[in-house]
Amino acid sequence: MSYTSYSFVLCDEGSSVYTAVAAVLSAREDWKRTKDHRHRFHLMFGERNKVPFGRLGHEPGVRQLVNYYRGSGRLCRKTTLVNILQEYCAPLDRDPFQFLPPSFVVCPENSEMPSESDTSMRAMIMRKKQQKSDEREAFFSTYHEMKGNGSGDVWIAKSAAGAKGEGILISDNAEELINFIDCQTRAHVIQKYIEKPMLLDGSRKFDIRCWVLLDHSYNIHLYKEGVLRTASDPYDPSDFKDTTGHLTNHCLQEALSPNFGKYEEGNEMFFDEFNRYLQENYQCNLEDSILPQIIVIIKECLQAIKDQISTDGLMYQSFQLFGFDFMLDANFKVWLIEVNGSPACAQKLLKGLAEAIVKVAIDPVFPPKTDEKLDIQPTLFQRLD
Ligand code: ADP
Repeated sequence: MSYTSYSFVLCDEGSSVYTAVAAVLSAREDWKRTKDHRHRFHLMFGERNKVPFGRLGHEPGVRQLVNYYRGSGRLCRKTTLVNILQEYCAPLDRDPFQFLPPSFVVCPENSEMPSESDTSMRAMIMRKKQQKSDEREAFFSTYHEMKGNGSGDVWIAKSAAGAKGEGILISDNAEELINFIDCQTRAHVIQKYIEKPMLLDGSRKFDIRCWVLLDHSYNIHLYKEGVLRTASDPYDPSDFKDTTGHLTNHCLQEALSPNFGKYEEGNEMFFDEFNRYLQENYQCNLEDSILPQIIVIIKECLQAIKDQISTDGLMYQSFQLFGFDFMLDANFKVWLIEVNGSPACAQKLLKGLAEAIVKVAIDPVFPPKTDEKLDIQPTLFQRLD
């Protein structure tokens, strides 16, 4: 007897996490893959920025699910993340930089070609120019204020479209940072640099990656296993040009440091090992000191964009896996560094994560129809209420 009753379409074989999720479904009797999204399907795995949302919601009587929230890219670009938190906090009279280091969106001086004839265009350009100089002035004034009150004078400029540590300048010279951006073609974020990060063994910097699943009902689930991406070389606060001491991106570490893999396999430390490290060295643990802060940040960010992306009331529903990247400063304060809308996953965790995504995001929408009911073991996802 065949139990086949649901079908999925996989538009992109490249994304390791969703390819792994598709493999979990393929192994089940009640799911089959259909090659073409013009055919009837229940579930679509699209590719970031290329999801054919127009194909969704046109099948009468068929509930459809897709693996991205339309518009979530705003949360995942460095510049628009700043805007989202500012817009969200303004009416609540709250500081948008409670967990995102103070940040300013700065456009290069020469980024526009003014048109003389079109008055509305000119008005828009004037407005943008005004915003530009406002942001620059706000940056200069915050720079001086923080320098004056002992909060440090090091900032980092990052390209809006940047990834993998490209297009970054770290400097304690405000003019140098602005000049750097003026030589580029795209908007950048100038962000306060975390000058005193928590260091592993007192010497190496790291960032923390957490995987977060947003289900079709906008419930937020945090994967309990996370990973630290560590630097291969010692952190030298006086040498900003030392890329492998300052930028913890995997690809940079692997390409540039002969010490890649020397301290941790693949420069990755998983949460259980980090927890042991915290207990031994600081008599504290992730659960009590760090995860509560992480949870607040994740909830705030997804709440800030909820009205813009929720699929409540639409003809189809979304779910999405996000990668949230954090840093810890020397006082154990957690800072948000960025949100990734299409996160990769360490090979070691991939299968477990893929199975958990099926259980948490897909099975509740399309209940299993096989005789073999799903085991009821809890997944590593923790629902954040
Ligand atoms: P990318 O998308 O290019 O990876 P990130 O924002 O993740 O850009 O920054 C790259 C690296 O730079 C991070 O992994 C982190 O090590 C470091 N970094 C980024 N922002 C800060 C900051 N505000 N303070 C200290 N280090 C930072």
